[in-house]
Amino acid sequence: MVRTCVGCRQRSERAELIRVVEQSNILIFDHNNALPGRGAWLHKAQQCLELAITRRAFIRALKLKSQPDTSGLTFTKEQAETMLANK
Ligand SMILES: [Zn+2]
Repeated sequence: MVRTCVGCRQRSERAELIRVVEQSNILIFDHNNALPGRGAWLHKAQQCLELAITRRAFIRALKLKSQPDTSGLTFTKEQAETMLANK
């Protein structure tokens, strides 16, 4: 399964990407690929996250009407380690 990162627009295996979904105009990571609705795929990298926000890529990918709250989307060192452990 190959998906396109909404940040850098590079294609990657799904395992290397994290799914982002919108709930009440707030973007959250779908760590278990279990949340319903439209999803956007993003590399697990701060750089790609910032690119996606700058390019307003989430609005296009998720068909949103306005700029969503992306403050919940941050990669801490701990999160990155957890994500690796869950692979
Ligand atoms: Zn990327």
